[in-house]
Amino acid sequence: MVQVEPITTARVLRGPFDYLRPDGVEVGARLVVPFGHRDVVGVVTGLASESAHELVAPRRVIEPSLPVELVDLAFWMAREYCSTPARALSLLMPPPGMRAKTALYARATGTEAAVNERQAELLASLPRFCGPDTAALRRLEARGLALLSPRVVRRAPQHLEVGATRRSPPALTTPQQMAVDAVLAAAPGEQLLLHGVTGSGKTEVYLRAAAEVLDRGQTVMVLVPEIGLTPQIVSRFLDRFGDTVAVLHSKLSAGERYDEWLRLRTGEARICVGPRSAVLAPMTDLGLVVVDEEHDASYKHEGDPRYDARLVAERRAHAGVLLAGSATPRPESVHRLPRLRLLERVDGRPLPPVEIVDMRDAGRLFHPRTHEALVDSRKAIVLLNRRGWSNFLTCRSCGRAWECPNCDVTLVLHRAQGGLSCHHCGHNEGVPARCDACGSVSIGRHGTGTERLADELSAGHVVLRLDADTRDPAAVLARFGAADRAVLVGTQMVAKGHDFPDVDLGVVVDADSTLRFPDFRAEERTFALVAQLAGRAGRGAGGGRVLVQTLDPDAAAIRHAAHHDSDGFLAGELERRELLRYPPFSTLIRVVCSSEASGAADAAATAVRSRLGAGAMGPAPLFRLRGRERSQVVVKAADRAAAITQVGTAVDEVAALRDHRAASFSVDVDPQ
Ligand code: ADP
Ligand code: ZN
Ligand code: ZN
Repeated sequence: MVQVEPITTARVLRGPFDYLRPDGVEVGARLVVPFGHRDVVGVVTGLASESAHELVAPRRVIEPSLPVELVDLAFWMAREYCSTPARALSLLMPPPGMRAKTALYARATGTEAAVNERQAELLASLPRFCGPDTAALRRLEARGLALLSPRVVRRAPQHLEVGATRRSPPALTTPQQMAVDAVLAAAPGEQLLLHGVTGSGKTEVYLRAAAEVLDRGQTVMVLVPEIGLTPQIVSRFLDRFGDTVAVLHSKLSAGERYDEWLRLRTGEARICVGPRSAVLAPMTDLGLVVVDEEHDASYKHEGDPRYDARLVAERRAHAGVLLAGSATPRPESVHRLPRLRLLERVDGRPLPPVEIVDMRDAGRLFHPRTHEALVDSRKAIVLLNRRGWSNFLTCRSCGRAWECPNCDVTLVLHRAQGGLSCHHCGHNEGVPARCDACGSVSIGRHGTGTERLADELSAGHVVLRLDADTRDPAAVLARFGAADRAVLVGTQMVAKGHDFPDVDLGVVVDADSTLRFPDFRAEERTFALVAQLAGRAGRGAGGGRVLVQTLDPDAAAIRHAAHHDSDGFLAGELERRELLRYPPFSTLIRVVCSSEASGAADAAATAVRSRLGAGAMGPAPLFRLRGRERSQVVVKAADRAAAITQVGTAVDEVAALRDHRAASFSVDVDPQ
């Protein structure tokens, strides 16, 4: 018999369930099984010789199976993130209902003379895939002159073209060579941090190490933050390695994604490049797992299980080498991992000078110095971490603020879309003409977002905008790259790993906006944002400069970033974290209880809190989201494994109580 985990999302329904074992079925097999009153897809997680129940047979087997390694991974994810094996397995499955696409392929079996001219031509053109003239080929087949057989054809990702020019790789700089050597000499299971300034050639190190690992017969996984924003790294892998690269990302159609998954599963593709979810690719024998821009917050998954791809990557690399890279690595990684350094840019150019612009008495959006720099600049990147036109609207007569009906937050005006929208739940409504409360038509618009900023700048420049409202980020980036003079305005998206040689100015409009977040990672985020933006400027012969406007010019994160001093920042930050017992000196676990029923979230959080020891904090109310009240409990623990078990048990117990049936629970280990 086989033990099967049905893929359902119910927290209470936990497998495994026993079924008869179809011939040849092993752990990892995907099956359709009768479950309750319906048929569901399940995964075989174990084999056993006998069962106490009378067993039924699965309906059918779905090919191909999952590698056993992924079944183990699902169980680990379920434990590590207080979820269920079924939920973890659901993330590891290929797109449902898909199968490989086949086409008829024709091959000549003889060159008999007894064919007419057209048929002879057709025969001479073989072998090939049958196109529209299948009928003619069928006739040849009937006469024994051609053989038609189905073959799998790949639905290749449309928008990713393998470069025609396979340039030979550049000679490595000495620090790059040392880094590559260290990666290749590392023992299985070792983890390394490649800490290299922006433009120091980290990607070339990944490429070279990957080539060698492939030569050894092993496979390679490369994780990147967001493919839409960093298409350059994908094309560099495609250019270097061609079809052996599978690209997994959200823009693929289900068919394309299935085919890439299948190519990885069968070993036809031996490198996988993709964002967070690519860490779950069905690969075996990984010799190298690269996590590029390892500081990036997008590695954390927001659905259940709330996995962190960086931690999952460590697990996947258990028999290979994990290589995390960044110009602004996380304090956690610096604390834990041996470091390889690239201290200079490849071209030997200095990092651009960064000036801190004190805005405390500027009283407007741009300081005169910034204004002047923008006028002088050829290509500038301007970062403002708020999208939309203005942050909130108020009635000038009665003071009413426009809020989301579902969430306790103000609505943001998006002028081009002609509406107000909630950045948390997506609620949209029209721009108000008058106040509902008092009827006044005098409505104030407060604050500035990227849309308004772009509009203001458009008086003197060609302005391109890049934020979550941008439909095609890759197109905007391509236009910016090709432009002669332009300003790129946007949220943190503009600070990602873009490599434009002619950017001569970087501006951070409001550097302390991220610093004001009530989060222990606020410092780290601010440092990374400023340092990464600085990294976009001055990559070419023209040099460049960076201006950082702030209300808090003495903040350590901003000062260190201005001096390109990541060591200084990291040392201070680790000291602070140790003092306050924040990660990496503890593990944080967050439990969020939510409910539509008034008071239920708080009651549930109180019940969870009462089951946890002295390390727990809360319950603390959070703002209402999507019509649900929320309340959270946070645990700061020295013993990670014990705390995960304890929190998981507490939540399961409370969730099972009748009193708390109205509440939902979400557990977040290592919250971001
Ligand atoms: P990083 O990832 O550290 O920001 P990149 O790998 O993008 O840096 O390298 C920056 C630029 O330098 C790229 O255009 C890359 O092609 C080029 N480059 C990298 N290594 C070398 C090298 N050894 N010789 C010449 N050019 C290089
Ligand atoms: Zn009013
Ligand atoms: Zn909302």
